[in-house]
Amino acid sequence: MDHWFHQELQLIEEKGLKRKLRAFSTGNESEVIMDGKKFLLFSSNNYLGLATDIRLRKKAAEGISKYGTGTGGSRLITGNFVIHEQLECEIANLKETEAAIVFSSGYLANIGVISSVMKKRDIIFSDAWNHASIIDGCRLSQANTIVYEHADMVDLERKLSQSSGDGKKLIVTDGVFSMDGDIAPLPEIVALAKKYSAYIMVDDAHATGVLGSDGRGTADYFGLKDEIDFTVGTLSKAIGAEGGFVATSSIGKNYLLNNARSFIFQTGLSPSAIEAAREGISIIQNEPERRDQLLKNAQYLHLELEKSGFIVWGGDTPIISLLIGDSHEAIQFSEKLMDEGIFIPAIRPPTVPKGSSRLRITVMATHTMEQLNTVINKIKKIEIGVV
Ligand SMILES: *Cc1c(COP(=O)(O)O)cnc(C)c1O
Repeated sequence: MDHWFHQELQLIEEKGLKRKLRAFSTGNESEVIMDGKKFLLFSSNNYLGLATDIRLRKKAAEGISKYGTGTGGSRLITGNFVIHEQLECEIANLKETEAAIVFSSGYLANIGVISSVMKKRDIIFSDAWNHASIIDGCRLSQANTIVYEHADMVDLERKLSQSSGDGKKLIVTDGVFSMDGDIAPLPEIVALAKKYSAYIMVDDAHATGVLGSDGRGTADYFGLKDEIDFTVGTLSKAIGAEGGFVATSSIGKNYLLNNARSFIFQTGLSPSAIEAAREGISIIQNEPERRDQLLKNAQYLHLELEKSGFIVWGGDTPIISLLIGDSHEAIQFSEKLMDEGIFIPAIRPPTVPKGSSRLRITVMATHTMEQLNTVINKIKKIEIGVV
C-alpha cells in the first residue's frame, strides 16, 4: 500500500496542508524544549498549569501504586473502580448536575452521547464551527444533521422553523469555540430551544475550569445551568489530566451507560488519569486565583495586541486569535516567531474560512508578565519587519 500512501500524501503536500509531529522533551510548562530547542509556549490547553502540577503528579502516582497502571477491562465488566465513581460524583458536583459519566476522552464522550441519543428521524442543529468530534458524532448518529452558520441565531431560528416531523430535535454547540475563543450565545440558544421544543447539548471542553463560578463552565457563566440537557467536557485541558465526561441527569447517565458504544466497548480509564483528574477538579474549586490569573493574562495580551493595531478575537477566554488573512503570511509569521523562540501555530483553511488565516494564541495562568511582554514585543517587531 505504500505506493498509494505516497500518492495521497503528495496531494496533501501540494495543497500545503501536510502535517507533522513535533516532539517535546518537557511537559507543557510555559517554557518547553521542542525538537531540542527552547520555546515560550503559547499554544497549550494546559490553561491552569495543572498538567504539570506536582500535586497531580503525586496523586497519579498514588493511583498507580494502589491500583496498577491499567483497569483490565471495560467499565461494565472489570474496569470500574471506586475512584471512577468518586470522580463522577465530583464532576457532577462541579457541574451541579445530578450525575456524570466518564469516558476515555472528550472525543469519545461526544461520539457516544450524540450517536446514542439521536436516531433516524431525529434532527441535529449543529454550529458550523463545532469541534470535529461533534461532527463525527453527528455522522455516526444517522440523524438528519443541519448545520447553522457560526453563532448565527437568525440562521438557527430559520432552520428550526423550517424543520418538521415528530423526531427529537437537538441543538449542539461548543461552549467556547476552539479557534476564535468566542463564547456561544447560550441565552439565545436556550430561548430558541424552548420556542421550538429542542434539547441542548453544550461541549464545554475549553470552558470547564475556565468560565463561571468555580470554573463550572459556559452554562453557569450565563446563569443557565438548569437549561442544558447534556454537557460534555474533557479532563485533558484545564483539569490537567486525561479523559472525557458527560454531565447530565441520573437517568440520562443510566441511558448512556446502556447505549453509548464508545463507553460500553472501551477499557476503563487508567487509575493515574482518574486520580490526577480528581486532584485537578479539587484544585480548580479551591484555588480560584488560578482562573483569575488566566483571564487577567488573556485580557492583557488581547488588549496590548489590539492597542498595537492588530485584529484580535477572544480575550474573555484563554484562546486569542490574531488575524493575518493570507495563509502563506500566517505560516511565515508563525515561523518567524519560532525563530524568536516562541511557539504559536498558524491556523489555515480548511480549519478556518478562506482569507481568515490566523495565529492561534493560548494563554496559561502560569505565564509571567515578562513572558507575556516578550511575546507582545516580538509580534510587534515581526509585524513592522524589524526581525
Ligand atoms: C479538545 C476538545 C475535544 C476532545 O477532547 P479530548 O479529551 O481531547 O478527546 C472535544 N471538543 C472540543 C471542543 C475540544 O476542544
